[in-house]
Amino acid sequence: MPEDTQSDSALSAPFGCLPLAPAVIDNLRQLGYLNMTPIQAASLPVTLDGHDLIAQAKTGSGKTAVFGLTLLANLDVSRFEVQALVLCPTRELADQVTQEIRRLARSEDNIKVLSLVGGSVMRPQMASLAHGAHIVVGTPGRIMDHLQRESLNLDALNTLVLDEADRMLDMGFHDDIVYIARRCPKARQTLLFSATYPEGVVDLGRKFLHKPGR
Ligand code: ADP
Ligand code: MG
Repeated sequence: MPEDTQSDSALSAPFGCLPLAPAVIDNLRQLGYLNMTPIQAASLPVTLDGHDLIAQAKTGSGKTAVFGLTLLANLDVSRFEVQALVLCPTRELADQVTQEIRRLARSEDNIKVLSLVGGSVMRPQMASLAHGAHIVVGTPGRIMDHLQRESLNLDALNTLVLDEADRMLDMGFHDDIVYIARRCPKARQTLLFSATYPEGVVDLGRKFLHKPGR
């Protein structure tokens, strides 16, 4: 039996002390995820309780599982609509995040994760969207393009993630991010991750997050 007091410790707390389904914990164990990283231990209790979050942490600290487990917890698999959107600065990062979410989602059947990045032809992406998806991961320019063509509909979205927000701003995606966030339902959970915390990131947090934990 895990000690109750352990859940109060931010250091090497096991995933088992989080309010996650046993099948999700089992899958994490199979992936070799036994204890939470510090950012996971600090953030997951906040995000799994439904709160918005701004997290500043450097590369390799385990941010993907923070938003991955949160958006999966918010997901209703029986509703075949886009319920979560993750914005990433580059195609490579979007592909990594897509793979990681697929691994985290293995405990449940039929969760469809779609990557929509620039530099790929539009038509196959539109065909994939027409077939439906639960989770979309993409770069801001391409996501905006799909919204303008109405090939992507965000009416059923419940979780919006801005990953590597500082890099997205450096790459000139500010206006695209604003465009996309304004087309998401107001009642949603928003999670913002950034390695640095410049004014532009502070401003995004002010505009699009509601009483975020940090
Ligand atoms: P970040 O986005 O913060 O740069 P990632 O989410 O990509 O970091 O995680 C970095 C690596 O650590 C990945 O290979 C991931 O699978 C692994 N990882 C994340 N959390 C854990 C954990 N709790 N236990 C073991 N490995 C983990
Ligand atoms: Mg990352």
